[in-house]
Amino acid sequence: MNQLNTRILVVEDEPKVASFVQRGLEKNGFSAEIAFDGLMGKRMFETGDYDLIILDINLPYKNGFELCKEIRSSNQKIPIIMLTALGTTEDKLSGFDYGADDYLVKPFEFRELLARIRSLLKRISIAETGGNILTFLDLEVNLNTYEVKRNGKKIDLTQKEFALLVYLLRNKGRVVSRVDIAEKVWDITFDTGTNVIDVYVNFLRKKIDKDFSPKLIHTQTGVGYILKAGKE
Ligand code: CA
Repeated sequence: MNQLNTRILVVEDEPKVASFVQRGLEKNGFSAEIAFDGLMGKRMFETGDYDLIILDINLPYKNGFELCKEIRSSNQKIPIIMLTALGTTEDKLSGFDYGADDYLVKPFEFRELLARIRSLLKRISIAETGGNILTFLDLEVNLNTYEVKRNGKKIDLTQKEFALLVYLLRNKGRVVSRVDIAEKVWDITFDTGTNVIDVYVNFLRKKIDKDFSPKLIHTQTGVGYILKAGKE
């Protein structure tokens, strides 16, 4: 997807936050439009042709959860990132329940938002241009529907877990370093002080490997990870 043609709808009622996000997006080559309340957001979504939506939760007239649900009833694909000042796990979970793809707690750094946007757009472009189904042994990943199955059993993954699994699958049988994963999946430069990649690999293992055999995701000590059939 050409970034210059990428249109982002920002639904945010705080003028400061809205213009901070809009300026940042435009500086990075995106086109960004602001809706200052939930109803305006809905109207703009229905009449505009957007590629991604950034959605605040506490909004006048219609809150972000309601708007997210309404958008999803007519459009399953458009990536939605929710913004909120409330950072409890419950809020995060309800955001995902209503169909959000990602979630950011205010105050946030713009580069963090940018990384999430790029990662979601990358997922879309992988799905549009790549093969439709990736497989390895009894593991099956559909890039169009985001459906993941192992031994015929459906597995629910978060957006990040999905992106990580797709990356491992595209490199099956090859060791991928944490640096590679950070760049390709998170769009960030790897910082050795963070264990975010190991944490996500463990989330993924619990879902993909824990109840199945053989184990597919393996640690290559000191190097990174590899997708292959093995005991471990
Ligand atoms: Ca608000």
